[in-house]
Amino acid sequence: MGVRGFAEEVRRQAALDAYDVIGTPPEQAFDDIVRLAATVCATPGALVSLIDHDRQWFKARLGVDVIQTPRGEAICDHAIRTPERLLEVADVGADRRFSRFGLKVVGQPLRFYAGMPLRSPDGHALGTICVLDTVPRELSEAQRDGLQVLARQTQHLLELRRYAHEQRRLLAEREAFALRLEEARADLERRNEQLEHRANHDQLTGLMNRVGLAQLRQRPEAIERLSGSPYSLMLIDVDHFKQVNDRHGHLLGDRALQAVADAVAATIRAGDIAVRYGGEEILVVLPETRLAGAVEVGERIRDKVMRSALPFALTVSIGVATGEPGELWADQVFDRADQALYRAKAGGRNRVIADDTPLFNQSPDP
Ligand code: GH3
Ligand code: MG
Ligand code: MG
Repeated sequence: MGVRGFAEEVRRQAALDAYDVIGTPPEQAFDDIVRLAATVCATPGALVSLIDHDRQWFKARLGVDVIQTPRGEAICDHAIRTPERLLEVADVGADRRFSRFGLKVVGQPLRFYAGMPLRSPDGHALGTICVLDTVPRELSEAQRDGLQVLARQTQHLLELRRYAHEQRRLLAEREAFALRLEEARADLERRNEQLEHRANHDQLTGLMNRVGLAQLRQRPEAIERLSGSPYSLMLIDVDHFKQVNDRHGHLLGDRALQAVADAVAATIRAGDIAVRYGGEEILVVLPETRLAGAVEVGERIRDKVMRSALPFALTVSIGVATGEPGELWADQVFDRADQALYRAKAGGRNRVIADDTPLFNQSPDP
């Protein structure tokens, strides 16, 4: 084979490979075609043979026991050298090119062959549809025509098959792409949430930070929760925290802060909001909570802090104040809580003090 012939063979093989048909199971449509070819040409054998690398492989066969033969023993390989013409070998036994080929038809040596090449749309010969007989003979003109018609039908079948496969592949690809896209989107969302959480929360204590609080104050659902019923604010400040740091070091100081944050987180309800407001100050917003209820929560936090597993005694002072609906996180309420905290410190620390500023609408807890 010359260089040009070799290049053409590479293209031909690529054209065949594109059908992805070699090695696939029998299909009724191809089986029907070889039966029809044998009927039309009145032969005991017929094949749809595809020339694949160094073999011929039969997509459909009648009267032939093997599924493939070496290419060197394939008359079809000669047929495809003239892709637009039928190759008819009237007496295979008398033809020196083919007489030593071992193909058997219904158990007997092949003596007659007529094959029409199958071509891809761009003209590459893929194989043949051929009829086989055990006696030397010739086809009639009508039979030759018939074999050519069937060759065209086989080409259509191959094209259809390829089209269906291509569609299935594209569909699977699209689905896989959509899946990857969805995964990427979900991943991005997760990362965004992580980033947002990191920006809005304090790393040491896991509580919300002031950035988070500022953002929360913009959220309509948060405003709605605080505008419908009385709410309370609680300011927690660690007692003598400077001394804790000085005596036990910053590392244990940090652990003390974590213990306070844990005590707060373990005590408040799901809708309550705890914010690390300053270095060792925590603000708790308690929606739908009146003063007495908030003081109770404060007492529980104070108690829990005292019982923290730390190598030294730790206490907190807490100031509590209540706001009426509409009085949204008002600075006044915050100031009253801060004053109550100041009184807790002044009164000896380790206590919860409720704001005692008279409120004209201070009703008892339900
Ligand atoms: P008081 O009972 O009056 O509150 O006394 P205090 O020592 O706690 O006084 P103050 O609240 O004014 O002191 C806050 C101290 O908390 C200052 C600083 O040394 C310490 N601090 C603030 N933030 C951190 C922190 O993130 N880690 C640690 N280890 N210490 C902090
Ligand atoms: Mg402080
Ligand atoms: Mg303090």
